Amino acid sequence: MDVFKRLLKLAKPHSGRFFLAMLCMLVVGASTSTLAFLVKPALDGIFLKKDAQMLLWIPLAVIFIYLAKGLCSYGQMVLMNYIGLRVVADLRSRLYRQIQKQSLSFFTRHPTGVLMSRITNDAGTLQGAVSDAVTTMFKDSFTLIGLIFVIFYRDWQLAVIAMFIFPLIIYPIAKFGKKMRSVATRTQITMGALTTLLHETISGTRIVKAFGMEEYENKRFSEENERFFKLNIKAVSINAAASPFMEFLGGIGIAAIVLYGGFQVIKGGATPGTFFSFLTALIMLYEPVKRLTNMNNTIQQGIAGAQRVFAIIDMEPEIGNREGAIDLPRISRGIDIENVTFAYEETPVLKDINLSIRAGEVVAFVGMSGGGKTTLVNLIPRFYDVTQGRITIDGHDIRDVTVESLRGQIAMVTQQTILFNDTVRNNIAYGDIERSEEEIVRAAQAAHAHDFITQLPQGYDTVIGEAGTKLSGGERQRISIARAILKDAPLLILDEATSSLDTEAEIEVQKALDNLMAGRTTLIIAHRLSTIRNADRIIVLVNGRIVEEGTHEQLLAKRGEYFKLYSMQFTEEEGSPPS
Ligand code: ADP
Ligand code: MG
Repeated sequence: MDVFKRLLKLAKPHSGRFFLAMLCMLVVGASTSTLAFLVKPALDGIFLKKDAQMLLWIPLAVIFIYLAKGLCSYGQMVLMNYIGLRVVADLRSRLYRQIQKQSLSFFTRHPTGVLMSRITNDAGTLQGAVSDAVTTMFKDSFTLIGLIFVIFYRDWQLAVIAMFIFPLIIYPIAKFGKKMRSVATRTQITMGALTTLLHETISGTRIVKAFGMEEYENKRFSEENERFFKLNIKAVSINAAASPFMEFLGGIGIAAIVLYGGFQVIKGGATPGTFFSFLTALIMLYEPVKRLTNMNNTIQQGIAGAQRVFAIIDMEPEIGNREGAIDLPRISRGIDIENVTFAYEETPVLKDINLSIRAGEVVAFVGMSGGGKTTLVNLIPRFYDVTQGRITIDGHDIRDVTVESLRGQIAMVTQQTILFNDTVRNNIAYGDIERSEEEIVRAAQAAHAHDFITQLPQGYDTVIGEAGTKLSGGERQRISIARAILKDAPLLILDEATSSLDTEAEIEVQKALDNLMAGRTTLIIAHRLSTIRNADRIIVLVNGRIVEEGTHEQLLAKRGEYFKLYSMQFTEEEGSPPS
């Protein structure tokens, strides 16, 4: 099996540890069987023959065997878990790196929860398979072989009989195990439904209240909760029945053997030592056999987990560096968008776009929501690649230059401000953590953020996560603008950077943006048209096509799409249309 081979390959660097662990397991298996073996000399020698030599040797042997068994148990457990945990940690890192490399479309196709579950749960079950199942496979097999040897050595006829009785006991146990697992799986699914519901309704509590849906949600929750309860009760009752049932079956087996074995002893064919040594070995067989029958399941789960993990690792990122890609020199002439068509799936979202942007120019994109503005600007840093046509910067097709050199020249400020749970300083220096204090402060000042940052409890060292909720939208936005200023990229993309702010916050942010835009080629998308009046050129996008372009005055004079948008906003905001 392919997955199996790959797992072996991952474990290969640890083969030294593995062989050491095997050695330990061999000792554990041998000492368990030896203990069963020693029952005969102990019983016959000490208790029947009253042999003083034996009284000395046997307790010493028992102590030594337990010591060896204990040390080797410890050794094999630590070694095997080391291998399992190491393999899984390496796999997690690889998975994380691979996920980081993926393009944006990958993240729209794979929900966050699923990706998180790949890294945490799936990798975790894999560890169970590697450490536990492999341990069982070897340690318990060794023990099994040793104990079977003891029972056959002691009384092969009785052993043959026991071999027939034993499966009769094991079979119902395996059945029980299967039932238990199916309930466990369903319990997990229900638990998942329950947490999803909780997450939705608690984080969305304002909506629940606003729409008066408390009762409805209570009912939904009760239903899931009830289902969870029933499954748990079922699991409890199966679990509670399992042990007595198995003991009962075991009791029948033991009774049968006592009957036969006792008969042999009374008849004089065997010593009590032989019989009890046999019985001890037989009882000791139970644990390893039980674990071996369950092992397959752990392995199957592990393999299923591994398959899901490898499926993601095998996904080649859609956007990467072409063979022989060169570094893009600092933008000097401009960007050319040539006959670009783009579709996320089937239907094109951008159709036949042609646009040349000179270096240093400020170009604004306007149009109704859903017109394709964000999509268009996302093509420039190659968040997505064009479906048809091409985009060049200073004559280089952006697919022919390295992604790092391309994105290194672009700073973005979007409507959702993304701040990380880190200090304000590191949030500003994100992308280049090594920047000097002075540079960071200068960027913050230019972004009109310095003053409020110094008011924070620990100033630049305040951790955003803790104070995050206390920062206003405008403040958060100014921190992301400081980040963009510090990056000092020649090309700037502003996607609705001020749209979610109120007018007052917008004025502060706009001042920060003016500082940021100075001397940079800027692509700006703004919901409020008043903010882009001064753009060198305004492009109107409708349904993925450029329908108008020109300066504010030219477009107003045209009395077309732009004029319509503009009038609409004026009636909304000022109450009277523009003259
Ligand atoms: P705008 O920024 O002008 O509001 P967008 O570029 O965000 O418009 O969206 C243009 C169209 O593309 C919309 O119809 C939108 O539904 C669709 N779209 C946006 N993002 C995706 C995506 N990740 N997958 C599929 N369709 C998308
Ligand atoms: Mg948009």
